[in-house]
Amino acid sequence: MEIINCDVAIIGAGGAGIRAAIAVAEADPKLKVALISKVYPMRSHTCAAEGGAAGVIKPDDSFDFHFDDTVGGGDWLSDQDCVEYFVKEAPKELIQLEHWGCPWNRESDGSVAVRPFGGMKKQRTWFAADKSGFHILHTLFQTSLQFPSIVRFDEYFALDLLVEEGRCQGLTAMEMRSGMIKQFHANSVIIAGGGAGRMFPFSTNGAIKTGDGMALAYRAGVPLKDMEFVQYHPTGLPNTGSLLTEACRGEGGVLLNKDGRRYLQDYGMGPETPLGQPQLKTMELGPRDRVSQAYWHELQKGNTVSTEWGDCVLLDMRHLGEKYIKERLPLVRELAIAYLGIDIVDKPVPIRPVVHYMMGGISTNTKAATVLPGLFAAGECACISLNGANRLGSNSLVELLVFGKSAAISAIEFIKNLPEPNRDALEECAKESQARVRDLFSRPDGGESVFRLRKEMMDTMEKNAGIYRTELGLQEAVTKINELRQRYQRVTLNDKSNVFNTDLFQVLELGSMLDCASALTVSALDRKESRGAHQRLDFVDRDDKNFLCHSMAYFQGLNQPKVEYLDVVITKSPPGVRDYSGGHK
Ligand SMILES: Cc1cc2nc3c(=O)[nH]c(=O)nc-3n(C[C@H](O)[C@H](O)[C@H](O)COP(=O)(O)OP(=O)(O)OC[C@H]3O[C@@H](n4cnc5c(N)ncnc54)[C@H](O)[C@@H]3O)c2cc1C
Repeated sequence: MEIINCDVAIIGAGGAGIRAAIAVAEADPKLKVALISKVYPMRSHTCAAEGGAAGVIKPDDSFDFHFDDTVGGGDWLSDQDCVEYFVKEAPKELIQLEHWGCPWNRESDGSVAVRPFGGMKKQRTWFAADKSGFHILHTLFQTSLQFPSIVRFDEYFALDLLVEEGRCQGLTAMEMRSGMIKQFHANSVIIAGGGAGRMFPFSTNGAIKTGDGMALAYRAGVPLKDMEFVQYHPTGLPNTGSLLTEACRGEGGVLLNKDGRRYLQDYGMGPETPLGQPQLKTMELGPRDRVSQAYWHELQKGNTVSTEWGDCVLLDMRHLGEKYIKERLPLVRELAIAYLGIDIVDKPVPIRPVVHYMMGGISTNTKAATVLPGLFAAGECACISLNGANRLGSNSLVELLVFGKSAAISAIEFIKNLPEPNRDALEECAKESQARVRDLFSRPDGGESVFRLRKEMMDTMEKNAGIYRTELGLQEAVTKINELRQRYQRVTLNDKSNVFNTDLFQVLELGSMLDCASALTVSALDRKESRGAHQRLDFVDRDDKNFLCHSMAYFQGLNQPKVEYLDVVITKSPPGVRDYSGGHK
């Protein structure tokens, strides 16, 4: 097996992974970085981000405001030392991107333009039309090209971490075009593998968001933190699940039920505001968890609109006018025309909530370090924890930058004065990983197909782990996911070839999703309260006495994970009431 030696191996070349790579290269050009990605970097999900990135920049805003919005938005589950660091670093990172060439929208006086976003009491979301992620990732990618120490391994699928002598010392990965497995010997490893929304059937997430990075760390003994918190974005296209960015509402779009009523005023998010003038933190600019939950209630009351794509509510942007829509929301218009045949200039567009983001992930401290020495994590796959029980829109893109950089700094610090690796032991470890994959090729037909198992997993997650949850439903989900994990052992490959074997990658991805789903459902069953995106119909209140803590799910092989709890770090904001009424109860 070929060995590739490097100082820092990074799994994932989305926003977090590339930001980390640049930070290592800038700190020390002698350090060799291996940047490993199962897709060409520009196809990472970061490229799909639309609305923008939050950072304090206007004179009427402050770090304290950004802190308060984030902590309250997260229903007090965020670690506040992490949030304090984040809000201060955010503008620096966004200005850094500007210097690297990111084309942020401008005010007429030439200063950076910001737009309102959900759950934020000030306008602080920097944007590049509604293609912010595309421009951010391009900027990072092109910047990374100037550093010869960053060596890319595009279309390499990470398989397992190499853990020896109690520390992470590399990984195995398959070169997808040849089927060759290679070992990367690294002094430290950063996982930046993105989210896992594809556990659910209806999701804004690209098909590659299958939680591989989370599963790699989890199987190596690192706990997954707060996995029960899954964000539904309120405005997805009802047929494809494609996102219509929160910027639609930030720019003044409104949500209507079948009677044309702006129903959010009935859910503690009033009062109704004049058309075209979004009032910050209320109505359509409430936080995502509350706005998605309001949809569910409208559905129960029979207030949704029946469409050929199922039950929906309407997002109306007509009053913004064609000129403004073309300038600020061109992609949204394009998506609605392409997938529904509706031009938002002339008609309201049917939408419904869609799985969007994982608040939980690989547990790290505020320096992006995991409990496994030599292993770091950043981006959506990590839970640092900034987002608590509900992420505010536009905080994620900045999280990638701030903590991608932190992970790099921690990784560099870690590799100073390390002993020489035991190469023989690492090779043995890599051979075990290789054998695991070979076993998939040589297994007798076990009668289980990846497609059937995946469908059953998705159906279970949608039915039992959605916007509202119950003991009964979650218990059913835990049992089902357990059963699927057993049956997964009998999945066989139809395609036994070596070249771009997508059958194999789908099997591996399903394995990752099942492990994540197991951590998610067990953690959700154990959290007997309602907080942020985790809403229980049988425990409707937040319970700070018993659950002001992070869940930590530990991998136990084919058995159910063990869940332990870790205190939330509170520095200056004791748990309070989340008020989005704009002063009007
Ligand atoms: C449609 C959409 C719009 C969004 N809009 C916004 C927004 O406006 N503002 C905001 O703040 N957030 C937004 N988000 C959220 C945000 O974009 C994501 O959370 C963020 O981009 C994730 O970045 P990442 O670097 O962690 O992962 P990704 O960009 O998803 O990259 C993951 C990387 O890991 C690699 N990888 C994964 N598994 C493997 C493996 N087994 N082997 C090798 N490589 C692997 C992939 O190839 C990829 O390079 C949006 C999300 C979506 C889906």
